Amino acid sequence: MRSLWNDTEAVQFTGPLGPRIYSSRLLGRDPALVLHGGGNTSVKLHERDRLGHELDILYVKGSGWDLEAIDADGFAPVRMARLLQLAQLDALSDPDMVNELRTQLTRADAPTPSVEAILHAILPHAYVDHSHADAVITVTNSHDGLARIREIYADDVVVVPYVMPGFDLARRCARQFAAEAGPHTQGMVLMHHGIFSFGADARESYERMIALVSRAEDYLDRHKVWSLPQPAATAPAVPQRDSLATLRRAISDCAGFPVILGTHQDACSLDFARRADIAVLSQQGPATPDHVIRTKRVPLLGRDVQAYAADYANYFATHAARASAPKTMLDPAPRVVLDPEFGLCTVGRSAREAAIVADIYQHSMAIMQRAAALGGYQALPPDDIFAVEYWDLEQAKLRAGGKLPAYAGEIALVTGAASGIGRACVVALLARGAAVLGVDIDAAVTTVAQHPAYSGQVCDVTDVQQLETALDAGIRRFGGLDMLILNAGVFPAGCRIESIDAAEWHRVMTVNLDANLMLLRLAHPLLRLAPQGARVVVIGSRNVPAPGIGAAAYSASKAALTQLARIAALEWGGDGIRVNTLHPDAVFDTGIWTEEVLAARARYYDLSVEEYKTRNVLKIEVTSHDVAELAAELCGPLFAKVTGAQLPIDGGNERVI
Ligand code: ZN
Repeated sequence: MRSLWNDTEAVQFTGPLGPRIYSSRLLGRDPALVLHGGGNTSVKLHERDRLGHELDILYVKGSGWDLEAIDADGFAPVRMARLLQLAQLDALSDPDMVNELRTQLTRADAPTPSVEAILHAILPHAYVDHSHADAVITVTNSHDGLARIREIYADDVVVVPYVMPGFDLARRCARQFAAEAGPHTQGMVLMHHGIFSFGADARESYERMIALVSRAEDYLDRHKVWSLPQPAATAPAVPQRDSLATLRRAISDCAGFPVILGTHQDACSLDFARRADIAVLSQQGPATPDHVIRTKRVPLLGRDVQAYAADYANYFATHAARASAPKTMLDPAPRVVLDPEFGLCTVGRSAREAAIVADIYQHSMAIMQRAAALGGYQALPPDDIFAVEYWDLEQAKLRAGGKLPAYAGEIALVTGAASGIGRACVVALLARGAAVLGVDIDAAVTTVAQHPAYSGQVCDVTDVQQLETALDAGIRRFGGLDMLILNAGVFPAGCRIESIDAAEWHRVMTVNLDANLMLLRLAHPLLRLAPQGARVVVIGSRNVPAPGIGAAAYSASKAALTQLARIAALEWGGDGIRVNTLHPDAVFDTGIWTEEVLAARARYYDLSVEEYKTRNVLKIEVTSHDVAELAAELCGPLFAKVTGAQLPIDGGNERVI
């Protein structure tokens, strides 16, 4: 492990908290040290309050903050004196401890201090760093872990047996530290949990963390388990769209809400899922207990979601019966799936959540493999994991979880997503919490949104092979398909019937009609599996109810597409799939309407551009955003009982009305 300390960078972090912020971010930058909210840091500062009283304040990471992105607001200032008094108590419940921590803050809008705040306070050093370093938890979760830790560190660290985070752990550490620490002590190893380092300044504490973790890495290297063998496993070539969507449906049904299912078919994941000892190795439990909140205690092996749920209910019943307070069972659905064909699948209520689970489990796989090679992976027993999973504080966090966006856990596909109405649909659906797969022949589709829930695929919708490839990629990324927005289309130059070129007619029909038929056919098996019923929105045109001179190919193609959508509504209603059509008109903020075209059309009608744009009954302009918002809402609960409908969105057109 390499130190990332850089003096030029460090001096840019000024003020009393500057060095603390800088080295916290350095820890956060290395996923082998901390992952997604894991780990915490603190500094003890001497301050004078508004009345001139001298105070020692512990600035400790607030809960919910990631070290990688932390700033001054992320540190909770807590009065040290009170923390040290609390550490003397014989017992303190976790909710009472959190109450004490919150009431001792010196800033009213500070985040809730980390539950490890008292532990930070009792360590007699200005700077304290805590990580869940992969190498350290690998050794502590190995057979003979304690002996190995002593061999690595001798008495340079205080070794604390596993105690659940919170007040009891702080008290245990305080006692052991007072008895065992000396001038030689550089850190503290918490078995099955992680490691603390400390120092007089930010750099000393950080460098000690790096040095201590490096010693564990070197130990693993000396035992020839640090470098993992390069696997060569490959994914089967057959498309797995339907079977992945079937698995996602089963997990969603089990969870009681739609989920994103991300699939990872890299050689490492496939190789791990195909290990001969996978049924033993993967069912031990997580490498550090707080992973349980994201990953559940164990992954599902294979695809029998029902059996997993039954096992989970058993695990809950057994441990809840022994708990001191009544517990409410969380949903019994798996968050990690290991399957010899799929590799690693991870589950979340959003693409971001599924990605976090993947990050955590990819580190866990390496930890388990190394520990197995070292003599055996030994995680904490289920009761310790249950205690963290059903910890009062975690349950309270879940209860306070807030309202999820409307389409959380759902997946939409938008064609023609690189610009205009399609691009606006991507934005509207992402804003409602959906994961979105955008396809377009224009390469700009890949950059429509910088968001973990967006995937842009360059794809010619008239090429069935390219459509299949895009769908395969989308399903591997998100797991299924709930919404389909058929938007891609071409608008040829005006031409009267007698002059229409056969090839041009054919091109318009191919893009505006045939491509949509192909996509509907490919999508149907996936849409049928949508956990809450699928929705299709077809972007038609005002030309369907009110065709225009010179637009024969366009009007005919959109009319045929509308008819296709009506048949789809009839045929697929039994599968719970709703199909509705929008007929927009005069949406001028799209690619085809350049400034010049607009000006020319306005001149043709002897109108100003502004008058031309608002040439409708309501005298208002219709934008891509307006159409996209309506398309997104058509997929929502307000239209839950509407299918086969056609809705104009044109500001009111006399010929349509
Ligand atoms: Zn920890």
